Amino acid sequence: MHLHLAGAEAGAISLHQKPGQGFKHGGYIHNVKKKPRQAGGRAEGGEADDDDESARFQANFARNSAWTKPEATDFNTRLGQLEPAFRQWVKNNSIPFDPKARGPQDYDMRGFWKGMRSGDPIAASAIDPNDSRLHYPDYWKTPYHETFSSESQWAAPGAPSWNGQDQLVTPDGQILFDDRAPKGRAEGGRVPGELTEANKHSHQEVGYVSVSPRKRQRCELCTKYIKDGPACKKVQSPIAAGAWCKRFVRKPGA
Ligand code: SF4
Repeated sequence: MHLHLAGAEAGAISLHQKPGQGFKHGGYIHNVKKKPRQAGGRAEGGEADDDDESARFQANFARNSAWTKPEATDFNTRLGQLEPAFRQWVKNNSIPFDPKARGPQDYDMRGFWKGMRSGDPIAASAIDPNDSRLHYPDYWKTPYHETFSSESQWAAPGAPSWNGQDQLVTPDGQILFDDRAPKGRAEGGRVPGELTEANKHSHQEVGYVSVSPRKRQRCELCTKYIKDGPACKKVQSPIAAGAWCKRFVRKPGA
């Protein structure tokens, strides 16, 4: 069983790892948008990156749709009267999932919760030994997830599967994700959420300048900055620590 990465500790969730069971793999819950907001509804210092997120979801779906059961069209469990209880669980346990998020989701957290509540043995979360962070089972990953695998309930035969080296591999041998790569880097050396260089914005598109004109807004303080590049998840290299672009979003606490 492989698990979906949650970007935060889950507090009171009990862990049910069984001896010998492989709780491993990477991938994030992307519907959580905890950015500082200004009065106008924009993230501080620039454009909200909802567009980026939507584009990434759509790119994942475009890739994964070939491996999705044709009859599967809805990937969100409806809870009806149980919805308030679900939201309370999310809140009480600091689950990195926004119940108010609309549109496609990369993880059916409601389905996980429902399964956990009913004692489904698949609905167990555990710490990934590769990154020491909490993960959830692939079973509720939707085709919008970057590591949608054959273990998802919506996967069709031939979907990518995890091998013994914690790599997500297509039937023809292409490695889509390497969970043991440094810092969870994807194949090709990218970090989670990082676009390929070809798909990143050009400097011109985002108004990149190598020396920031704003005292408290520099790439090194931005959520998209990759320190060990240095690089940016969304903007083409080269990227300087002291640079700036109009897509700047301050890191929490920076
Ligand atoms: S170029 Fe710098 S400011 Fe712009 S999104 Fe990337 S890290 Fe942030």
